[in-house]
Amino acid sequence: MIIILKANPDPAQLEALIAWLKAKNLEIHASEGESHKILGLVGDTSAMDVDLIAALDIVESVRRVQEPYKKANRKFQPNDTVIKVANTQVGGGNLTIMAGPCSVESEEQILEVARAVKKSGATMLRGGAFKPRTSPYSFQGKGVEGLRLLSLAKKDTGLPIVTELMEIHQLEYFEDVDVIQVGARNMQNFNLLKEVGKQNKPVLLKRGMSATIEELLMSAEYIMSEGNEQVILCERGIRTFETATRNTLDLSAIPVLKKLTHLPIIIDPSHATGKAELVPPMAIAAAAAGADGLLIEVHNDPQHALCDGSQSLRPDVFDDLAKKLFKVHEVISKF
Ligand code: PEP
Ligand code: MN
Repeated sequence: MIIILKANPDPAQLEALIAWLKAKNLEIHASEGESHKILGLVGDTSAMDVDLIAALDIVESVRRVQEPYKKANRKFQPNDTVIKVANTQVGGGNLTIMAGPCSVESEEQILEVARAVKKSGATMLRGGAFKPRTSPYSFQGKGVEGLRLLSLAKKDTGLPIVTELMEIHQLEYFEDVDVIQVGARNMQNFNLLKEVGKQNKPVLLKRGMSATIEELLMSAEYIMSEGNEQVILCERGIRTFETATRNTLDLSAIPVLKKLTHLPIIIDPSHATGKAELVPPMAIAAAAAGADGLLIEVHNDPQHALCDGSQSLRPDVFDDLAKKLFKVHEVISKF
């Protein structure tokens, strides 16, 4: 349920209303709309008398929220969430570019890629240390050593780090990590979601490969309901009958999510397409459709990459793409 207050509500009456709602065991999520303050109520509101609240002097209107996600709902918070990561911001009209290899492989590799993507204008360095691989015989990532190498690259370039957390206990190694990634395969690992919800760090939540948009938002709600409201959503392609691409990039998720939620939306055209040649056109399309950013795999030697080489861009190709993305974003921002 949301309560839209009249402009400049009487402070004493507002305080009394909030106290009354809290006494009913409701959590109150207050935010500023364009001209009115909004109180979003989280909890069981089924027995609340809408007409009674709507009749109060300070109340403009009351609406029930049908969607099962509340804190992530744009009705609760009309303004876009802007998430601060080191000295950059995600959302609010900024174009975030997270770039780097699928997995951290060596000091030379991560430093070379980090320096290159930084030069091209990337705002964050991505790289997997703990890798969720389909086959147990594939390279599983360098683990804690990978995190150490990411920290080295962060120190060298100043780029904040985004990397995947696969298990709760790995959090003890994540002190220097700026954004915790929850991968597609863990989108509904509810214990993991609750745990990252207790952290004071932004979370990049990737859409599960067969998850609906509502399920993605419910997973964001899990994180937010624990207190961490710094959630960045990521569309990375979904499973369809199509086999020409690794997954099918759901670009319509951008305008759909923009309507339903205030959280920023990042597009990952690398895992969505699985093919390097398809990454630039789809990245550009995502920027044109209003994405808040891109997540792009870049490798200094894709042919010999230990993971996802076929979808990784060479640094020179990434450089060219980044230039185009900033141009598209500039045009879109003027619409
Ligand atoms: C990744 O970004 O490294 C990754 C494994 O992606 P996803 O979880 O989307 O498959
Ligand atoms: Mn990958």
